Amino acid sequence: MTQFTDLGLAKPLLKALADEGYANPTPIQAQAIPGVMSGQDLLGIAQTGTGKTAAFALPILHRLAENKKPAPRRSARCLVLAPTRELATQIGESFKTYGKHMGVTVAVIFGGVKYGGQMRAMAPGVDILVATPGRLLDHLGEKSMTLEGVEIFVLDEADQMLDMGFIVPIRKIIKFVPRVRQNLFFSATWPTEIEKLAAEILNPNPLKVSVTPQATTVEKVNQRVLFVEQQRKRALLAELFDDAGFKRVIVFTRTKRGADRVARGLEQAGVDAASIHGDKSQGQRERALAAFKSGEVRALVATDIAARGIDIDAVTHVVQFELPNVPEAYVHRIGRTARAGADGSAVAFCADDERNLLKDIERVTRQRIPSFDRRNDKHLGAATAAMPDPGGKPERPPQGRSQPHRGQHAPKRNRNHTDAKPVSRGEGGGRPQEARPAFKGPSRGRGGGSSSGSGRTGVWSNR
Ligand code: AMP
Repeated sequence: MTQFTDLGLAKPLLKALADEGYANPTPIQAQAIPGVMSGQDLLGIAQTGTGKTAAFALPILHRLAENKKPAPRRSARCLVLAPTRELATQIGESFKTYGKHMGVTVAVIFGGVKYGGQMRAMAPGVDILVATPGRLLDHLGEKSMTLEGVEIFVLDEADQMLDMGFIVPIRKIIKFVPRVRQNLFFSATWPTEIEKLAAEILNPNPLKVSVTPQATTVEKVNQRVLFVEQQRKRALLAELFDDAGFKRVIVFTRTKRGADRVARGLEQAGVDAASIHGDKSQGQRERALAAFKSGEVRALVATDIAARGIDIDAVTHVVQFELPNVPEAYVHRIGRTARAGADGSAVAFCADDERNLLKDIERVTRQRIPSFDRRNDKHLGAATAAMPDPGGKPERPPQGRSQPHRGQHAPKRNRNHTDAKPVSRGEGGGRPQEARPAFKGPSRGRGGGSSSGSGRTGVWSNR
């Protein structure tokens, strides 16, 4: 197996990799690093989770270190364009991590924050500039930055850029970059428009590297589909969190409002949750991500765009509260777990009117996802804590856990099983004055990650 030491990377980079505990390059790194180090253009078909950030950051840092010189004022030696603020921030952090023993300067620029700090950061010139297209164009228009010092240009997540309407801004930005340069172009998928854009940007005969994370991701993730009525999805979601294995969970919703609603529902059910989507301010997004990364909240409820590219280690589960309209998004979503060799589990809720979407997903991913029918579960509705207990009596006695009395604060679900730190709740510090349901569903107490369905009670019937 190739080791990083075999690739000829500069010593300070090897030291930083050793600090991170990385000894072996991932496939995309092994294939891309030598060519990029030698100055070749690169066309990478890869998505996040494959180690692609290091696949470009390491050889770029190596090249800059080999040919040390100051960047021109208000400019950068390397420009990386990324579609979202979160991804831009993450890429900037990666450059800092890998370049920490070589005194690299990095600036990250995105919208939603003031211009002044970004202008000050760029004033002396930096080695690496990571930017989202819209804000960078604003700076270029104002002449508060220039791209004339750029030697290496990276376009990350090109297909996501296309989805977000960034193709025109990218074409404008390219006009500011010197013609003689090295280009690295990454996209997870390869639609015609992306092919065209790549041909415009890249020099002829780039090195082509394709890793196939779609298949590997799909294979590595334990997947299951739960059939459930739309109006009972929130109750089912809350029930899933009774499982101590649901430690760090990303929940996907289709809409921003939906993300807020689902996060609120989880909080009401005693599960610490935060939501992240395009209407949140930069500060709110950062706080939500930090709380999720630290384990302060167990659930991060996100829309696809907000979550794409976010690199969070040790996500135990991905829950799709609604199935996505585009089958490929299903693959991107489940790719948030099972990252960098870890195992992960993905649960998708499917209401009756989503069956066609499920069929499309199974067709595109060429698999049949194990499914369980949770419709007509009598106890499920009871899990909506704010509602009075319709039946009064549990169907099954509670197992091994004392039940709250009516009017008590709802307990945090499995708080003791998580890495969670206590969350400051402000005044009162408690949960809403709601009774928790007296009955928990059949998933209770079971270890996370199993998609087998074995040992389940009758409601987990196979399709
Ligand atoms: P990326 O695809 O760049 O988002 O990287 C996915 C994750 O893999 C990140 O958490 C990286 O820190 C991690 N990673 C990258 N390269 C390696 C490596 N060679 N060995 C182990 N983990 C890695």
